[in-house]
Amino acid sequence: MLDNEKRFPQLKPLMNNSEAYYESSRCLFCYNAPCMLACPTAIDIPLFIRQINNGNLTGAAKTIYQSNYLGNTCGKVCPTEVLCEGACVFNKVNIKALEIGRLQNFATNNAILTQQKFFEIPDFNGKSVAVIGAGPAGISCACELRLAGYNVDIFEAKSNPSGLALHGVAPYKITNKEALMEVEFLREQFGFKIFYNKRIANKEDIKQLESNYDAIFLGIGLGNSAEIKIKGEDKPGCIGATEFIEQIKTKPGTKPIAKRVIVLGGGNTAMDAASESARLGAEKVIVAYRRSESEMKAYYFEYDLAKVTGVEGLFNVAPIEIVGESAVEGVKFIRTETITGKLINIPGSEFVLDCELVIKATGQMKQTSMIANIQGLTMDETGRVSINQSSGQTSNPKYFAGGDAVNGGAEVVNAAAEGKIAGKGIHAYLTKLA
Ligand code: SF4
Repeated sequence: MLDNEKRFPQLKPLMNNSEAYYESSRCLFCYNAPCMLACPTAIDIPLFIRQINNGNLTGAAKTIYQSNYLGNTCGKVCPTEVLCEGACVFNKVNIKALEIGRLQNFATNNAILTQQKFFEIPDFNGKSVAVIGAGPAGISCACELRLAGYNVDIFEAKSNPSGLALHGVAPYKITNKEALMEVEFLREQFGFKIFYNKRIANKEDIKQLESNYDAIFLGIGLGNSAEIKIKGEDKPGCIGATEFIEQIKTKPGTKPIAKRVIVLGGGNTAMDAASESARLGAEKVIVAYRRSESEMKAYYFEYDLAKVTGVEGLFNVAPIEIVGESAVEGVKFIRTETITGKLINIPGSEFVLDCELVIKATGQMKQTSMIANIQGLTMDETGRVSINQSSGQTSNPKYFAGGDAVNGGAEVVNAAAEGKIAGKGIHAYLTKLA
């Protein structure tokens, strides 16, 4: 049986020295560089590319890590096509944009493998912070706090760190080994502690954290895939996209893929799940979306990537039932159309498409029950934690938050940026209290 590394060759493989030298020499080192302005963590991209070009790999990695503690992970999983590389001036003259993500990995990978130390951790300042969740937001917040001398303990419900970077990002974007290596590199460097299999779920857990720590950061992400609330959804063979991807990444090869797969949804996660199904050997994979192709939320390049693996798109169809006797045998759809901006089902247009596996990629649930255990914490009408955007502070002053629980599900780089902002916010809050 093929392991994940063979089955899912990396989209952005590591550059060798010559490739990195050649690619970095193409950079124009633009003033007010648009690539840098497009980066949510504002990495000084022209500077680190120039450092690579000068052979100063340590300096390049330091430049990256000073802005983004998840520099290596983000180099691999960021949608660079719509961020830094999408903003590169070369696009304007129809020349291939700099491969910024791969250059970023070239520098940071070297730093991780050679165990470079970039940061001095000051003496303990007498205060402690609890971080709930060892995903990108939590790790980033922990690094920032350690730089200000706080004791930081991270409580993680799963047995591994990295959140979605490990469990939810497609295996052809980053390997588990790469995601784990960076967290270990940061843990060694910054000295935060991670307690695994420690779910903070009830009021008692919360009370204990509140009495043991001076501030608490919520990097809890999102929950399981949302239900679509149609008949037959509970049949064997109908699974959420997040759970499907997690299974592939953490237990590769445990379950043979079905011959025919239908993925419900039109976002990036739907494209990931569809691509993975095709790469795992499914003979027919259909992405079914209730609106038109141009209304899909997925980035165009993610859909292109799925199509390259043989995935087909089916548009203006809404699932109304998962059919089958004891397990999934197909999906009953109804055709839809948009009339004066409103999506309506077309009566009498129902039809059934056969399949053995249905993957629901229609969003994830918010962690509202956990959040409801915290006194005075406000959520918006969709269940996202409300924060002060410039400090990450919530309506309960002791709590700060960032990542998917706040933004409803964005990129790893957004979580890394928000975790860092909250780390600064916590420092400002605790300094004022002192
Ligand atoms: Fe280099 Fe492109 Fe950024 Fe200009 S926009 S600094 S050419 S990567």
